Amino acid sequence: MAEKLTAVKGMNDILPPESARWEWLEDTVRSLMARYAYRNIRTPILEHTRLFVRSIGEVTDIVEKEMYSFEDRADKHGDAEHLTLRPENTASVVRAVSEHNLLYDGGKRLYYMGPMFRRERPQRGRYRQFHQIGAEALGFAGPEVDAELILLAAALWRELGLSDWRLEINSLGQPEERAQHRAQLIAYLERHADRLDEEARRRLHSNPLRILDTKNPAMQDLVNGAPRLIDFLGASSLAHFDALKAMLDANGVPWTFNPRLVRGLDYYNLSVFEFVTDRLGSQGTICAGGRYDYLIGQMGGKAAPAVGWALGVERVLELLKEQGAQPSEVAPAAFAVVPDAQALPQVLQCLQALRAAGVSVQMHAPAGASEGMGSMKSQFKRADASGARYALIFGQAELAQGCVAVKPLRGGAQEQVLEPLSQVDQWAPRLR
Ligand code: ATP
Ligand code: MG
Repeated sequence: MAEKLTAVKGMNDILPPESARWEWLEDTVRSLMARYAYRNIRTPILEHTRLFVRSIGEVTDIVEKEMYSFEDRADKHGDAEHLTLRPENTASVVRAVSEHNLLYDGGKRLYYMGPMFRRERPQRGRYRQFHQIGAEALGFAGPEVDAELILLAAALWRELGLSDWRLEINSLGQPEERAQHRAQLIAYLERHADRLDEEARRRLHSNPLRILDTKNPAMQDLVNGAPRLIDFLGASSLAHFDALKAMLDANGVPWTFNPRLVRGLDYYNLSVFEFVTDRLGSQGTICAGGRYDYLIGQMGGKAAPAVGWALGVERVLELLKEQGAQPSEVAPAAFAVVPDAQALPQVLQCLQALRAAGVSVQMHAPAGASEGMGSMKSQFKRADASGARYALIFGQAELAQGCVAVKPLRGGAQEQVLEPLSQVDQWAPRLR
């Protein structure tokens, strides 16, 4: 027997009925983004490796060990290119925005949805192909846009019925302020070098800020006592942060200040934030983002401020499940019972008219080529299992009268009625 093929480790098939929850989430996002005037952007899944190295930063989990990178085959004229499956989408959005000079007539509000790839250890809420939905506002400097993005996320939680979250915020200030803090932080960590784990030691001089983000319980006391970045911020950075907090307060979005929130990517400054939950174990961050005012300029575009967030679709859906939120059942409105294959051309015609009129219909179809349509009894069993509210019976007697019988399958003692095939539009609305 042939070897059975399976999906790649850490990469999941999303099957019905689970996929209906994904579509519902995506539909909710689309409708919300439209109300906040964010427009859709779709970038390629493959990019040049250097795009991510330069934007995310060399000394980050993602670039150090998580990227799916490979060398493409050389084409006729050129060298082989180093390509990477995108591990996140902000870098690509920034590339696209500068490549197409999208900011020439002012700021842009954009959103995306799609698969991302990171070679992590697969576990609940952590996969190798996972999905993000993200919103980015490019070309706006003020804290009102940071607030708008956070309010947008909070509105999404509300519309999804997701309640079990808290919002943590911090300010990373500006590069000069970070440089001063960094020197003090390194000095503090060096004084306690014996308490650093291996990863922290490795990062001590390359990316010490990231040590504050450690999940190692043995280092919590140490990082709690470390110099706080917030104490190094000047008046302008603090004013931005205070304005954001005031706007969140005015809109009833509760937040907590987490001075250790630093985020795993290098490109952030000023506001950073995470929506977290305690209900998903150590994969508790459902949405994260912040300001990245220097990235566009660093990537070779015309310098412009920007801010954005990305949410993890799998984690949001998992949290909704934890909370017991059940998606409504997806079932067709009607199921077509077809006793005799000869009627099929006429049946298809009627179903086309019903669907054009907005009715969802599933047609009975036998599994094998040679076994006929199957008994009425077995077809009614299928109709029932489909969850449909009506059976449409295309029997010889009905067709002879130019009609189809519409039989209610659920909800009590309604009568079966004959409906004319020539006037589908008149009775279709009753089935919707
Ligand atoms: P974590 O600390 O959990 O690894 P991160 O800081 O690496 O998260 P970001 O790069 O900020 O994550 O991505 C934004 C969001 O995407 C995360 O908050 C999370 O919800 C989701 N996410 C990130 N990596 C994964 C993954 N491997 N599997 C599933 N979701 C993920
Ligand atoms: Mg990560």
